[in-house]
Amino acid sequence: MRSIDDIEVSGKRVLLRSDLNVPLDKSGSGAITDDGRIRASLPVIRKLADRGARVIVMAHLGRPKGEDFAERAAGGPSLQVVAERLAELLGQPVAFASDLVGPSATSTVAGMADGDVALLENVRFEPAETSKDDSERVRLAQDLAKLGDAYVGDGFGVVHRKQASVYDLPQLLPHAAGDLVVAEVAVLQRLTVDPARPYVVVLGGSKVSDKLGVIGNLLGLADRVLIGGGMVFTFLAALGHEVGTSLLEADHIDSCRAVLAQAAERGVELVLPTDIVVAPRFAADAPPTVVAADAIPEGHMGLDIGPASRELFASKLADAKTVFWNGPMGVFEFPAFAAGTKAVAEALTKVDGLTVVGGGDSAAAVRSFGLDESSFGHISTGGGASLEYLEGKTLPGLTVLDA
Ligand code: ADP
Ligand code: MG
Repeated sequence: MRSIDDIEVSGKRVLLRSDLNVPLDKSGSGAITDDGRIRASLPVIRKLADRGARVIVMAHLGRPKGEDFAERAAGGPSLQVVAERLAELLGQPVAFASDLVGPSATSTVAGMADGDVALLENVRFEPAETSKDDSERVRLAQDLAKLGDAYVGDGFGVVHRKQASVYDLPQLLPHAAGDLVVAEVAVLQRLTVDPARPYVVVLGGSKVSDKLGVIGNLLGLADRVLIGGGMVFTFLAALGHEVGTSLLEADHIDSCRAVLAQAAERGVELVLPTDIVVAPRFAADAPPTVVAADAIPEGHMGLDIGPASRELFASKLADAKTVFWNGPMGVFEFPAFAAGTKAVAEALTKVDGLTVVGGGDSAAAVRSFGLDESSFGHISTGGGASLEYLEGKTLPGLTVLDA
């Protein structure tokens, strides 16, 4: 893959696609609750600016709704708060354009000097960004291309998306992969080509349907797969257990049963929690109770793995030489249900080998526990993208950077 060291950027307007999709406080303030993705994007922005580029950053935030730019811009979320945080972290001003291909973007870019940084408004305010219609996306990409002389793809979290700013735009300009994308791909290669063993995969998070593809492929790579989080209840149901009001994807029970059978057939150790922390409702102050995994009471939902499972999972990680972890073990956002996720995170810090954390929420969890990020081999910025890579899929945003 061509890196930014291989392209001329001095004095050039460089359109940089970053992943700045940070979680925002949902209770109303709209404040950034974890700026990890902004921090991860800094090195390439600094490098480009230091080399005299005019760095025009494009990014998306959340899932704006509405028919057109105006409706979406009115509904938000705006990248303005991200521009402010980015400026703080960079230690230099970041000009913010309130549109993508309109007058604000044009005048913002026209006003830039070498070494300046600007951020365009949420690229998903343009419905064409995510359109399934190729020609709509290409039209937006053509308009964006007018703002720049070169393209750098550094938004690893979106490389699995066939979107205008990720897939169509790089085809119109000289392009390269940013340092973050280069680093992410290098780590994923280590997880797929000759990984050191034992290779342990820990999967959690909310939806089993998101992860069935990757489990299938990982069964061919890993020695052990530990499963927790909301997705575990579909597995427990597949074993014939009652799961109360826990998250359950009933139409995937059969797929989970197939995964269990496939694991047994391939000699992969598939580890499920033996106990679960349940509560009568989904709330931070709901009273937690520990029950056996096969005895979840009616009217209760599982919100975390239990204390015996924490020890079990830690012991299954202790001798690992390669670990890939995606998805929290419980609703870690509520402190009463964070212990399972914390136990896995801590177990990873003790592993003597390559540990990779994938997934926005998992990475946010690691940081929320105040664990030293350097005690993890790699904290990936891209959940879906890493999963699709590990599923063996080709990622459109990488393919175009390679061309
Ligand atoms: P990642 O972003 O790391 O890939 P996911 O997006 O798949 O992870 O899942 C993260 C979400 O899963 C978290 O918001 C967490 O609250 C939720 N979750 C974990 N365990 C449960 C559970 N038992 N019930 C409901 N939600 C859960
Ligand atoms: Mg997530």
